[in-house]
Amino acid sequence: MSDYSFFEPPQRILLGPGPSMVDPQVYLAMAAPIIGHTDPAFFGVLQDCAAMMREVMGTKNDFTIAISGTGTSGMEAAVVNFVDDSTKVAMFANGYFSDRLTEMCDRQGADIARLEKPWGETYSDDEARDFILREKPDIVGFVHAETSTGALQPGKAICEAAHEVGALVIGDAVTSLGGMPVEVDATGIDILYSGTQKCLSCPPGLSPLSLSPSALERLRARERRSVSWYLDLKLIDEYWGASHRYHHTTPINMFYALREGLRLIHEEGLQNRFDRHKLNHEAFVAGIEALGMRMHVEAGKRLWTLNTPVVPEGVDDAVLRKALLDDYSIEVLGGFGPLAGKVLRVGLMGASSTRANVLLLLHALETLLNKQGHKASGGAAAAEAVYAA
Ligand SMILES: *Cc1c(COP(=O)(O)O)cnc(C)c1O
Repeated sequence: MSDYSFFEPPQRILLGPGPSMVDPQVYLAMAAPIIGHTDPAFFGVLQDCAAMMREVMGTKNDFTIAISGTGTSGMEAAVVNFVDDSTKVAMFANGYFSDRLTEMCDRQGADIARLEKPWGETYSDDEARDFILREKPDIVGFVHAETSTGALQPGKAICEAAHEVGALVIGDAVTSLGGMPVEVDATGIDILYSGTQKCLSCPPGLSPLSLSPSALERLRARERRSVSWYLDLKLIDEYWGASHRYHHTTPINMFYALREGLRLIHEEGLQNRFDRHKLNHEAFVAGIEALGMRMHVEAGKRLWTLNTPVVPEGVDDAVLRKALLDDYSIEVLGGFGPLAGKVLRVGLMGASSTRANVLLLLHALETLLNKQGHKASGGAAAAEAVYAA
């Protein structure tokens, strides 16, 4: 028999595409004792989560819940409840997560039309409108914050055109919710899902999900059963709703975590939180440009939460990232798919989005780039200038 000692993880600074840092208060909340998933006090926790999720999402949607599972469970719930072999889907395809969404729709046997763009680009209002009016789909899919590329896809024109042809819109806000405005109601997103480990400063494990009144109507009118029992939103709705009918044992401590993560957002103030993410992003970009690097995504289309600086010519990104981890205990990931070896993926989300992290990372990058022969200086100073202004 081996002797197993208590596992002590290394202390990391998580600046990759997720998970990001968990707020210490969230860890405290998670350590509270378990109560039952049908305890009236626990339904109070769910109610608080729903109310605060509505605030962060910018919605009045009655149907606002969190699915037990990571962000992908929300994505799959959206698909298995609204897409089947009689569904026409129009997909805005410009990164890895729209490909995953496409694959899920394909497994449902849907008829899928894809509008393709290179990774890092986004769709103009006219392109979005033309595509939807031409295809006349039942469901439109788009990724608001594409974590594989660092690009932000605005949703308003997509949703307006979709509603004109009677389609519902699935929107992925896993990497924007809690870090950038999502504005579900003002944008018109019908089926919105997210995750807890990116900008909500919680561990992975829940997927906030919200349905517009039209989406709820379509769900209720649907006669075919969802192919997934676990992700059947009609059944999950009965547990969250007045009857509180048992469906599955919800992960109690993850809901404590979500409640605390949302409470911290409420306490910080949504606008202050967005301002913090924007400022740290701008300071980071100023530092990157001072180091003689450029950003993969055009200015004005960048996420504040996930940055994709281009790896300079002659620099090995795997060596760079290994040194970041070994010498500074900083986790940053690289690009993949068409962006493999070409970009770094730097997350500044939730509790990870701090001035101290930006300055430390720029200092570390400067040191390590010089070691690989890319002469660079003044990164942290350029960021400091942004903070001072
Ligand atoms: C992380 C992510 C997901 C998947 O979430 P998991 O928590 O890894 O299951 C989906 N969409 C986007 C845009 C993401 O960044």
